Amino acid sequence: MKDTIETIGLIANGERVETISRFEVQNPGTGNVAGYAPDAGQDELDRAVSAAKAAFPAWAATSDEDRAAACNAVADHIETHAEELAQLITLEQGKPLGGLGSRWEIGGAVAWARYTAALSLPMKVLQDTNEGKVEMYRKPLGVVGSITPWNFPVMIAVWHILPALRSGNTVVSKPSPMTPLASLRLVELMNEVLPAGLVNSVSAADGAFNMGAAMSSHEDIAKIVFTGSCGTGQKVMQSGAETMKRLTLEMGGNDAGIVLPDADPQAIAEGLFWGAFINNGQTCAAMKRLYVHDDIHDAVCEALVAYASNIKVGEGTLEDSVLGPVQNKAQFDKVARLVAAAKETGQVLLGGEPGEGLFYPPTIIAGLGADDALVYEEQFGPALPVIRYTDVEDALAQANALDVGLGGSVWSSDKDAAKAVAQRMECGTVWINGHGGIQPNAPFGGVKKSGFGVEFGEEGLKEYTDIQVIFS
Ligand code: NAD
Repeated sequence: MKDTIETIGLIANGERVETISRFEVQNPGTGNVAGYAPDAGQDELDRAVSAAKAAFPAWAATSDEDRAAACNAVADHIETHAEELAQLITLEQGKPLGGLGSRWEIGGAVAWARYTAALSLPMKVLQDTNEGKVEMYRKPLGVVGSITPWNFPVMIAVWHILPALRSGNTVVSKPSPMTPLASLRLVELMNEVLPAGLVNSVSAADGAFNMGAAMSSHEDIAKIVFTGSCGTGQKVMQSGAETMKRLTLEMGGNDAGIVLPDADPQAIAEGLFWGAFINNGQTCAAMKRLYVHDDIHDAVCEALVAYASNIKVGEGTLEDSVLGPVQNKAQFDKVARLVAAAKETGQVLLGGEPGEGLFYPPTIIAGLGADDALVYEEQFGPALPVIRYTDVEDALAQANALDVGLGGSVWSSDKDAAKAVAQRMECGTVWINGHGGIQPNAPFGGVKKSGFGVEFGEEGLKEYTDIQVIFS
């Protein structure tokens, strides 16, 4: 890890930017201070945006091969510093180093960076006839502002920054004030291998100055790529209206899983668990409501509880921890509130009581329905409601009843039957006998109030460009 975490700083035009003050970042696993991050304001934002704006013309004119090479250099450098970044994530985010934790997140960041490097958006000839030639070009937008949440701080930053760079844009990156350290270090590392000004950083405490809002309305930022909650995403859209910002909004969801009567409870238990509890449920496309057919309801609950009972929850640096703490107090309180309310109508099958500090055990509550807040609100934590159904039409109607639609899943021994149900789910991605798996070649995004635009693959890359057509 970098000598002292206190030296992690902001970068503009390849140079370190000092701020008057720094804010405290908490380690959710210990309650101790993890470090201090720069508390920037409008001046630092303007400096970062100016650096990105100045670097843009030369970068936009750089050859496709050189841009691909730069993205590969970033992937290599992240890989070289993988352990340092993983340790930082665990320190401030809380997730375990092993399993599907911090090291896995960095592995994902490297894989996405490499895949993005290999993509390209060549000019397309739409017509070449005696009447004339029509060509379509994909042109970069300018300065892209990246605003990220606290659940996967490094991987999501890579999801934003790499396609922006690959397509010829420059970037100002803003991490969540809950987890700024690993992301700021990521930008420092990128600057060790990229030309100055391509990737710049800002961070600020949650306070009087709202950095995300200032970015969303900034005249010289052409696009905001935002990952976070629905409410904040709507604010981004409002503040971006004046300057006609291009937007990719990856927001919250409340993913439903539907278990059909022919599913094998033992075979699906592990997948159901990880679909719901990956990263302690603090995952945008985690399964947040589970609908189980009456015929196998009790057997599925039993198998799921049996699997979940063996999961070790603990501080992220302990090698035997499988899940860590909830990342912050507000999220912890939300989970506690939703579980307390659910206990009044449902039956607690596992967990149900807060642990020490920010630790909350995996909690499974059955006997719930559409009127329970744990079902209709996004919990974003380790508490899964189970809803019994008898008619798949009813389960589908309940799954589609909410105003969000990120992911969904169908669990069955008959893939075709499951696919027929999947096609009727109102969400951006549906998995059969799994939930939440993503990969860099498959576009990912939400419908309804989960946002718009997609990330990943060629479709994701297109989001960082405008089309120009030339008739000749
Ligand atoms: P959040 O909305 O509170 O914060 C996200 C980011 O927005 C942070 O960097 C924050 O500082 C910034 N921000 C705050 N106010 C802003 C404003 N007015 N304008 C612009 N930016 C502002 O979200 P969170 O609590 O960090 O993350 C959890 C949420 O993110 C969940 O709802 C989850 O489902 C969602 N999420 C979605 C995806 C996806 O790909 N769809 C992925 C991960 C998380």
